[in-house]
Amino acid sequence: MCAVASALLKPGKDRSLARRHPWVYAGAIASVTGEPASGALLAVRAADGRFLAWAAYSPASAIRARCWSFEESERIDAAWFVARVNAAVRRRADLDASTTAVRLVFGEADALPGLVVDRYEDFLVTQFHSCGVDAHRELLIEELCRRTGCANVFDRSDPALRSREGLGVLGGVLRGAAPPKHVCIREHNLRYWVDLRHGHKTGFYIDQRDNRRLVGELVPRMLARHGRGPRVLNCFCYTGGFGIAAAGAGAQAVTSVDSSSDALALARDNARLNGLEEGARAAAPATRPASRLEWVCGDVFEQLRGMRTEGRRFELIVLDPPKFATNPHQVERAARAYKDINLSALRLLEPGGVLLSFSCSAAIQPDLFQKIVAGAAIDAGADCYLRARLAAGADHPTLLTHPEGEYLKGLLLERL
Ligand code: SAH
Repeated sequence: MCAVASALLKPGKDRSLARRHPWVYAGAIASVTGEPASGALLAVRAADGRFLAWAAYSPASAIRARCWSFEESERIDAAWFVARVNAAVRRRADLDASTTAVRLVFGEADALPGLVVDRYEDFLVTQFHSCGVDAHRELLIEELCRRTGCANVFDRSDPALRSREGLGVLGGVLRGAAPPKHVCIREHNLRYWVDLRHGHKTGFYIDQRDNRRLVGELVPRMLARHGRGPRVLNCFCYTGGFGIAAAGAGAQAVTSVDSSSDALALARDNARLNGLEEGARAAAPATRPASRLEWVCGDVFEQLRGMRTEGRRFELIVLDPPKFATNPHQVERAARAYKDINLSALRLLEPGGVLLSFSCSAAIQPDLFQKIVAGAAIDAGADCYLRARLAAGADHPTLLTHPEGEYLKGLLLERL
């Protein structure tokens, strides 16, 4: 490996790498020798020349190098990438029984920084967001297809994120057939249509799988306790997710709110697909009436206020907003927005009712999020138990050394 380029860090800038954090910022680097190409292998060395990590070079990015490995003895060759793909796929194998939509590769957590691969039935949807994984794109795709048996690869890389890495636009069919308008996936006992081409992220909020199931478990428990299913409010419903899980489990009524009419249209299709929409009563178990479903196209902030004026009440509320803070500068404004919706939602929650409140902003730390929600509860005059802390599913693991990977957090609150 004598021809490998190297990056020499400034004195004292080796601390985060010593803690095995996988990013090297441009400002930490004193010099780069060997004229590496974009995505090329770099040996990262401390100011005294000590080996720290193998990394991929990103000449245009603020994160100038992303680490593959901290072991000097490892060879970062084709076999190494094949092994990473195999390990990532193997790690998720036990999810196959519960769903056909799985995140197979989650960037840093799978030692492949910048790569996301989601499987939907026999389609792989990819995002190549760093020079390192982009430089090995063909090899990675080849191995992903071989390992999963999927013949179709569709790319949904974000042009803005690629441009920050100095990478050109990618996207569309990389292999096999173009995805149909909608792919039907199974998650536990429910089905959802997913738009791989235009849907959010890679099409579906795969990360909320466990929490949708939790809703599906809470509803019958509340039904058993109170003799009737909860009235559910699903805010930021996207294509129906939590609301369909609630209706499928016997909610009395489900009100779903989203500002996107396209998302709502697909949400209604998803309700129909599961036999939950009006006129599909026959599909519901005969022992209980079908849930009353209400679809509201509007702004959640306004709708929550309007519902308070109307005196509406719910026993189960889900708040799963989009990322309010995309960077640390937006934390304060985002905190106000989180507080606003949590306050409004808690005012609609019946005593004994539950709120599932989420934030997917990595810039909002879990402890800050909890403080924001606690403040909202005080202002709403709602005493609450913190019943559980919620997170993304097992296919979105967080490396202890890379806490930035833990973007999704949630609180399960029960109002006293
Ligand atoms: N809970 C969903 C994912 C939510 S994604 C699931 O499990 O699938 C966030 C959603 O919020 C998107 O569908 C977006 O259209 C919607 N949205 C964003 N801002 C909004 C607003 N101010 N009011 C209502 N919906 C909004």
